[in-house]
Amino acid sequence: RVKHDGRGKICFFDAEMDKAARNRRQIESELRHAIIRNQIHVSYQPILDALSGEIGGYEALMRWNRPGHGLTEPDIFISIAEESGSIVQLGEWVLQQACREAVRWPLPLMIAVNLSPVQFMLPNLCERIEAILAETGLAPSRLELEITEAALIRDRDRVMTTLLRLHKLGVHIVMDDFGTGFSSLSNLRSFPFDKIKVDRSFTGVLEHDAGARSIVRAIIGLGHSLGMPVVTEGVETEMQRRIVVEEGCAQVQGLLLGKPDIEPSIKLAAHENVLTAQIETGVSSLRR
Ligand code: C2E
Ligand code: MG
Ligand code: MG
Ligand code: MG
Repeated sequence: RVKHDGRGKICFFDAEMDKAARNRRQIESELRHAIIRNQIHVSYQPILDALSGEIGGYEALMRWNRPGHGLTEPDIFISIAEESGSIVQLGEWVLQQACREAVRWPLPLMIAVNLSPVQFMLPNLCERIEAILAETGLAPSRLELEITEAALIRDRDRVMTTLLRLHKLGVHIVMDDFGTGFSSLSNLRSFPFDKIKVDRSFTGVLEHDAGARSIVRAIIGLGHSLGMPVVTEGVETEMQRRIVVEEGCAQVQGLLLGKPDIEPSIKLAAHENVLTAQIETGVSSLRR
């Protein structure tokens, strides 16, 4: 639909687009007060050893309880928060909260937190993370920062400096959602990554799609040759778990093994005098 704006210019007008834009602006403005209004919380999803089923850590996932809408998916609001910049505040809140909670866990498990590419535009990201670690008392070696390749595009030198500094502190750097996007091999080699996460879009089709399985195999092989363990996320079925274990995947994460939850599902069990964390259900099915 073409409309004249009265000054001789033509502009495109679409009621749907207008509605979507208004909706985004609305979310944007609500997000600015979401933390102070206690609408944001962190959900924890376990990441397990692929063979033993032992929990190695948890991924912190942001949740927004939006008034009038209920629990709102990150996929809807994170891109808006990134555009408006409020992801900086939200992301730091999640990091701080996750570190605070992880310090109180009965076992020194890993805590994985997602970092937005927008957070890398801060000149002092590293200092801010260091401050949160110092303030919460979390050992840097227990923190995993998950970043996607999108963070590596702009200002590579600065991102490199930041990641090297974090890595030197002992923080682990994880390449998230690998296999989609650029999937650059040189990025994996040049930046100080410690671990690779296979994007869940491959996991979902593993049973029926030989191509997806080949890609997962290739990523795991790549990880091995670069000395990086590979995690598969989005594992929903026993068959998918079997396939990725067969392919040599080190860790698994997904609804089959544990859903994101406000309370991490840590249960202590005495195993040959060693304390291990296990999921209450599902662990026996992991032992083949
Ligand atoms: P991600 O980092 O790749 O996180 C994994 C996503 O997969 C989570 O979605 C998780 O709930 C979902 N998931 C877990 N198991 C399964 C499964 O078996 N099947 C399927 N289909 N999905 C599964 P979630 O929590 O909706 O988050 C979506 C994305 O939003 C995340 O993807 C991450 O990119 C972003 N995100 C979440 N929390 C934060 C945060 O605190 N900061 C930033 N910057 N991004 C975040
Ligand atoms: Mg992630
Ligand atoms: Mg991911
Ligand atoms: Mg993702």
